[in-house]
Amino acid sequence: LPDTPCRTRFAPSPTGYLHLGSLRTALFNYLFAKATGGQFILRIEDTDQTRLVADAEERLYQDLEWLGLSWDEGPDKNGPYGPYRQSERLPLYKEHSDKLIREEKAYRCFCTPESLEAHRTAAEASGQPTIYPGTCSHVPLAESDARAQSGEKYAVRFKSSEKPIMIRDVVYNRFQKKEAEEDFIIMKRDGFPTYHFANVVDDRHMKITHVIRGAEWLISTPKHVELYNAFGWEPPQFVHLGLLVDANRQKLSKRDNSANMEFYKKGHVLPSALLNFAVLLGWRAPQTPKGDVMTLQDMADNFSLKFSKGDIIVSLSKLPF
Ligand code: GLU
Repeated sequence: LPDTPCRTRFAPSPTGYLHLGSLRTALFNYLFAKATGGQFILRIEDTDQTRLVADAEERLYQDLEWLGLSWDEGPDKNGPYGPYRQSERLPLYKEHSDKLIREEKAYRCFCTPESLEAHRTAAEASGQPTIYPGTCSHVPLAESDARAQSGEKYAVRFKSSEKPIMIRDVVYNRFQKKEAEEDFIIMKRDGFPTYHFANVVDDRHMKITHVIRGAEWLISTPKHVELYNAFGWEPPQFVHLGLLVDANRQKLSKRDNSANMEFYKKGHVLPSALLNFAVLLGWRAPQTPKGDVMTLQDMADNFSLKFSKGDIIVSLSKLPF
């Protein structure tokens, strides 16, 4: 364990309810922050306005409270610690994307969804790569400014490097994405940032030291590192967790009802039983717990970043409760 306090975050998108996989991610982030005397932050990643589920946020708070996973700060420094919500931080993302545009590390893309679709279909038909061809990267900055001023709609794309980016991960060691990245979107036409952009800007602004999240995000991490580099920021430590999968190797998802907190609550499963079950999915307690169950404090006292690599099979139908 590092001997300085670490800051972690749980960053769910309110597109579904807390489930076993996300509970485990939240728990590991919570425990690592507590184990180092640091802070655990909750950040609602609600930038995809088309996928919001109406009661997801409310239920998330109830579920975290039921589990005893309380977070340590929020936008109002004096509390109550409402969580950070990305939809309330849009000026911050705009400011950062404007900076990259000024430095010509990003550019406005005025292509309409229709023209992008036409390009994709034509490229596909002729066996060409379907990635964005960089059309708007040739628009001079002065012209781009003028078009934006006149109210023309645009997305913002990041000038992705041709070179593959190597990343370091505490669990997966090194990881390099093979195929070339297109100039990916950081701000959408609706004025909201993409997940990648908001995630990086926020992790930096919230001084997150360790990003502990599911391995499905490993593939996105080179993009994130490119963004950190473009701003001249030191990336946090990445800690990707093996995924929870079912017997058919399918990732447990928000759609599995038996993985939702509602299911456990209805079945009168004690939160401590669920937490004890979840904490051992990919993490090994260094010593046998003294009692029958570990409290959150016991877990934090013994915590380390020793996680197993690779998927973890969980047969929901055979759960002990
Ligand atoms: N909003 C992402 C999710 O729902 C967060 C991923 C991350 O932790 O970076 O899983």
